[in-house]
Amino acid sequence: MSRFWSELARGLSPYVPGEQPQIPGLVKLNTNESPFGPSPKAIEAIRATAADTLRLYPDPQATRLREALADYHEVAPDQVFVGNGSDEVLAHTFAALLKQSSPLLFPDVTYSFYPVYCRLLGIDYTTVPLDAGMRVRVDDYLGRAGPVIVANPNAPTGIALSRAEIARLVSARSDAAVVVDEAYVDFGAETAIPLIRDYPNLLVVQTMSKSRALAGLRVGYAIGDAGLIAGLTRVKDSFNSYPLGRPAQAGAIASLEDDAYFQQARAVIIKNRADLTAALAGLGFEVLPSSANFVFARHPDRSGQALAAALRERAVLVRHFTAERIADYLRITIGSEAELARLTDALREVLVQNS
Ligand code: PMP
Repeated sequence: MSRFWSELARGLSPYVPGEQPQIPGLVKLNTNESPFGPSPKAIEAIRATAADTLRLYPDPQATRLREALADYHEVAPDQVFVGNGSDEVLAHTFAALLKQSSPLLFPDVTYSFYPVYCRLLGIDYTTVPLDAGMRVRVDDYLGRAGPVIVANPNAPTGIALSRAEIARLVSARSDAAVVVDEAYVDFGAETAIPLIRDYPNLLVVQTMSKSRALAGLRVGYAIGDAGLIAGLTRVKDSFNSYPLGRPAQAGAIASLEDDAYFQQARAVIIKNRADLTAALAGLGFEVLPSSANFVFARHPDRSGQALAAALRERAVLVRHFTAERIADYLRITIGSEAELARLTDALREVLVQNS
């Protein structure tokens, strides 16, 4: 810590994104990336853009991308906000919508970014515990004032709320924004986007990092009432008027146009998730019902930390958390069939060795 740091910098415990070690042959199941490449059409569009127009500034409004997203999600372009990954979209959302006189509510446990942004922006927050089954209980949010953010499916549990449950949450708090972070929605949950018509306080945030395998391109977006979107744009324009580079805009548009590739890739992940869930159950794990591209699982007689370390020694990376409520669990990204076979072989070895 340098003596030149501000008080704000001193007080922060930053959210550190998952590990990205460069070890050849590593099976990397720790940061919920896609095991497949993005659409070849997206790669081609990125190449063409880089070759032709990189010397020019991009469209600051990302007009064509916002139109493509509006078409895809059946909303108007002024209901779409884009940013440099959904983390940036969320950052602007926290600043524009979630600092209110009542504390922001979100579940304990959820995406670890939320408390970090609250601290960074001086937002008061109250966490609401998950129920005994590790589920978000909408009833626990009713009758309390203040904005809400939930990840749906939740992270790192993978458990999703239905659209009807989200509607119950949103309709009960017309005086404050409700943000639904749908980073993992494409793997089997229901999006809340159709509810936007009825609820001007609902903002849905999505990303191209997971189901579209474009984590390296950094494209995220929010969809909501035009009034909410105007607030986000105002905040964004005060920081950076060029949120997305030309390759990102072109690649994202081409990905949206290649629906066949998208549907196929996510169907394979959903199938691999079912297979992995069965394999883990066969090894004695308790696996939470996941609607995401990862599973959250614990073994009744092994600590999560010990299992993660033993897997790491076998060049398989999974995510383990230190927070008490989830310290027993492993979060395992749904990889390719071959990667998941490596994982289950390694787990079998570890479990036999220590039994
Ligand atoms: N929301 C949730 C719940 C996530 O897990 C992640 C990925 N760490 C993000 C948002 C951010 O993803 P990105 O910035 O790549 O869009």
